[in-house]
Amino acid sequence: MNYDKLAELLFPQITKTPADYEAIYPPRQLPEGAKVTRLGPSPTGFIHLGNLYGAFVDERLARQSGGTFYLRIEDTDDKRYVEGAVETIITSLDFFGIDFDEGATMDGAAGDYGPYYQSQRGEIYQCYVKELVKKGQAYPCFLAEEEIADIRAKQEANKENPGIYGDYAVCRSLTLEEIEANIEAGKSYVVRLHSDGNQDPEKAKTISIEDGIRGTLSMPENYQDVVILKATGIPTYHFAHVVDDHLMRTTHVVRGEEWISSLPIHVELFEKLGFEMPVFCHTAQLMKLDNGNKRKLSKRKDPELSLDYYRQEGYLPQAVREYLLTILNSNYEEWRQANPDAPAEDFPFTAEKMSNSGALFDLDKLNDVSKDVLVKIPAKELCDFLKGWATEWKPEILPLLEGHEAYIEKILDLGRSGKKPRKDLIYGKQIFEFISYFFDDYFKIEDPYPENAAPDAKVILEKYLESYDHKDDQSQWFDKIRAIAEELNYAARPKDYKKNPDQYKGHVGDVSTVIRIAVMGRSQSPDVWEIQQILGEERTRARLAAQIK
Ligand code: GLU
Repeated sequence: MNYDKLAELLFPQITKTPADYEAIYPPRQLPEGAKVTRLGPSPTGFIHLGNLYGAFVDERLARQSGGTFYLRIEDTDDKRYVEGAVETIITSLDFFGIDFDEGATMDGAAGDYGPYYQSQRGEIYQCYVKELVKKGQAYPCFLAEEEIADIRAKQEANKENPGIYGDYAVCRSLTLEEIEANIEAGKSYVVRLHSDGNQDPEKAKTISIEDGIRGTLSMPENYQDVVILKATGIPTYHFAHVVDDHLMRTTHVVRGEEWISSLPIHVELFEKLGFEMPVFCHTAQLMKLDNGNKRKLSKRKDPELSLDYYRQEGYLPQAVREYLLTILNSNYEEWRQANPDAPAEDFPFTAEKMSNSGALFDLDKLNDVSKDVLVKIPAKELCDFLKGWATEWKPEILPLLEGHEAYIEKILDLGRSGKKPRKDLIYGKQIFEFISYFFDDYFKIEDPYPENAAPDAKVILEKYLESYDHKDDQSQWFDKIRAIAEELNYAARPKDYKKNPDQYKGHVGDVSTVIRIAVMGRSQSPDVWEIQQILGEERTRARLAAQIK
């Protein structure tokens, strides 16, 4: 077979050679050890936690080593393309503090290694396919869908491995004349790799690959003549990945573990094309505990898989980042304890310390981490964040925040100073619910009065309102509550009540709970005196009066 002739027959329009591309995309001039990573999302419009998880690894590896992190859009499957998806990817990741050094941007692309949209790289892929054809390492395959289905059925019946290999790779042996005739007859074809793997799957060699996260992976070599170029002239993922990551000079390919099974194909392609292999880092699936069982996060069942969820709920990006680091690297929490105030970026992230057996994602744990992160954020910054979040997701509360910053900041700081600061604040939606009693439009009585004190509630509140002096300090204020308690036969101290429960109706705590509920609507809240100081005299009196009527 004259392969040169075959290559010209299939790709007459391709005039560039691999050497031309090598010259256009020379090795990057980067410091020794610098890592080049990329995110290669498909523009489906759905950006999820797994994307962020991977992007985070990419970003850390590149940034920590003085390398480059770029965004490549894998849009060869136009059935999945959704308008505006690229913008969604960029803005969602930007929200979490992930930005790119080069690649696709909001208004096009930036960088010397483009195009960064696979759909614009057709000629490049075809040049390399042509090269393989020239070397007899790829060939056109004219098998129609029905023929492939027949092969599959036969393989199933014979309990053989499915796929095109060995005797099933019938187009391997076509002559140039037969190929020419098929093309002339207008038959459509794909281009397949001519695999050098042992064509008897039983005898496939074992290959070993060093994974950046998992260590040595041993698996059978590829023996299948996989499709590298579809009938439309568009490459498959396998081929595009290998060509792109070579020409874009990627040093570390971080991708989900679902790609491990096709790794042998990629290894063979890298070898045949004469490219140096990048370091593959296959990340673990994100899992969650569901009724005690670990399972993959699912788009249908778990709203928390979508990145939009965190923006809608109003999570602070630094809290999500902090939490992701705890599941990304097993030694992060220890580091954090030793460095409580250091920026997370100072943590020496390594691929080797990543989990390879399913990373457990747990919203409760995220919330705990978020509490710890938020307690350190100044009220002003939190207030600004809340305003930004409300503008986008809860505009109806914006008038309560804007122009009332001093009030909001006092509310947010409630109980946050001192040795044991309260850790009540988690995310925007929760924060607003938590502090909503400070706004008259949202204030409502949520909890009932304690049963033993309910019959006296009205009298308690009357007496309290009568003696109320907004200028009282905290101890003067509490002395008055004690006096009311004693007057109405509640123990002034809980321990007195415990000793002689029959002598009293209850204790001072029940009396102050009545007051707490009248002022805040809830039986649990931070310090009542402090809350009254923030609410102001007028509002406090009005709320008490409303419960006496
Ligand atoms: N486009 C692939 C995906 O969406 C990217 C895989 C890779 O990073 O190589 O899963």
